[in-house]
Amino acid sequence: MDATLDTAGKRKRLVIGNWKMHGNQAVNATLLDGLCAGIPAAGSCDVAVCVPFPYLGQAYAKLQGSGIGWGAQDVSRHEQGAFTGEVSAAMLADFGCGWVLVGHSERRSMHGESDELVAEKAVAALNAGLTPVVCVGETLAEQDAGQTADVIERQLAPVLALSAPLVARLVIAYEPVWAIGTGRSASPEQAQAVHGLIRSRVAKLGVPDLRILYGGSVKGSNAASLFAMPDIDGALVGGASLVAEEFLRIAAA
Ligand code: PEP
Repeated sequence: MDATLDTAGKRKRLVIGNWKMHGNQAVNATLLDGLCAGIPAAGSCDVAVCVPFPYLGQAYAKLQGSGIGWGAQDVSRHEQGAFTGEVSAAMLADFGCGWVLVGHSERRSMHGESDELVAEKAVAALNAGLTPVVCVGETLAEQDAGQTADVIERQLAPVLALSAPLVARLVIAYEPVWAIGTGRSASPEQAQAVHGLIRSRVAKLGVPDLRILYGGSVKGSNAASLFAMPDIDGALVGGASLVAEEFLRIAAA
């Protein structure tokens, strides 16, 4: 059976925490213990955390057998070699990672990551058996200019040019840049409109059940209304993933 579908054949919800550059061993231990203790409340949804590279070993040690997955926030497009400072997909797999974010807007804007590079990173992750979470989203200026659909289409083009079996192994996260870390989430209807576009685009490739997450100021208080939308399959959560109770509330929603 496809692990991304539930027993009724519906897309299984997925909630992923993005810790960004936060944490230390002591704080992480408390957070991970809190998640492990509370995870039954999350029910049948898949849950994972994407932690900074130095803490992958800690996540590996704490989360094995817990039902919570873990992963990284970036990956090299290269397999191995003279790439100082980079971390390969095989290294992530060696630490038990199941997931890796690629193309987060902070990487696109602060590190100049292109759509093509993001697709290459996704391929590197797939080759190592990881699930890449491909992040896309428009800026406020692009939204104001009515360019949201064009931006999403452009950002996704190189990944959707991969073969359908590879596309079927991706997760896409729609994260409007104006909603990330601002406390201003997209409304469920706004997010659904973009998720619907992405859904019809991937359905044309023969991949109707690819999971599409929403990200941008998701909290325990707004998660249920977002998840009620037909094409929102879960969330990529930044700030709220640093507080165990809040993250578990989102997963329980
Ligand atoms: C993110 O970093 O991917 C994110 C969605 O952040 P936040 O939930 O804090 O808006």
